[in-house]
Amino acid sequence: MVENQLMLRDINNAEVLNALLKVPRHLFVTPEYQHLAYSDSALPITHNQTISQPYIVALMTQSAELEKNHRVLEIGTGSGYQAAVLAEIVDEVYTIEIIEPLSKKATHLLKKLGYKNISAKSGDGYQGWKEHAPFDAILITAATPEIPAPLIEQLKVGGKMVLPFAESSFSQNLIVLTKKKNGKMDKKFITGVRFVPMTGEVRK
Ligand code: SAH
Repeated sequence: MVENQLMLRDINNAEVLNALLKVPRHLFVTPEYQHLAYSDSALPITHNQTISQPYIVALMTQSAELEKNHRVLEIGTGSGYQAAVLAEIVDEVYTIEIIEPLSKKATHLLKKLGYKNISAKSGDGYQGWKEHAPFDAILITAATPEIPAPLIEQLKVGGKMVLPFAESSFSQNLIVLTKKKNGKMDKKFITGVRFVPMTGEVRK
């Protein structure tokens, strides 16, 4: 997976490659998809959600330009896979999932795997996690038509936000936003993607 799907594309950050080598992806998929755990695709988990394609997990992680001492917020825990990848690289990971049973399942697995630097909770990620802000980076792993204002507030100046921006119901672009000193966000396009929608407040 790491050689063929990541290194042969444009994943060249050693910490990111190492993290994807270490995290046992087969434990994050449901039993019927275990034989496909290291394939080049997103896979269904429960509650109509998906675990993202390994390449996209790596690309989002690499685009966040992480350092060991960083504190990172993820919106959309899903299976917990992306959170585990982040936790291999940075000191502190916070992750929020709107579907409670998914949050519980991921929390249980991450604990079982010994990740002590991940804090997970169930709720709408729209509001972020104020108690632990500011964050060095924020990853949203569900497609949103809007950047939630509380997330911009909770990002450090110079910090990156990586997310699939829903341009329309057909097209989503993976983008990286960098928070500037004046509070404005610099935007960089990475690639076209397909994610499940972000739900909750962002759709109201
Ligand atoms: N990062 C996950 C995959 C994410 S799939 C992994 O590594 O497996 C997107 C997830 O975002 C879904 O589980 C969905 O329930 C969740 N989600 C959607 N809207 C959300 C919101 N407003 N707040 C938090 N989680 C949300």
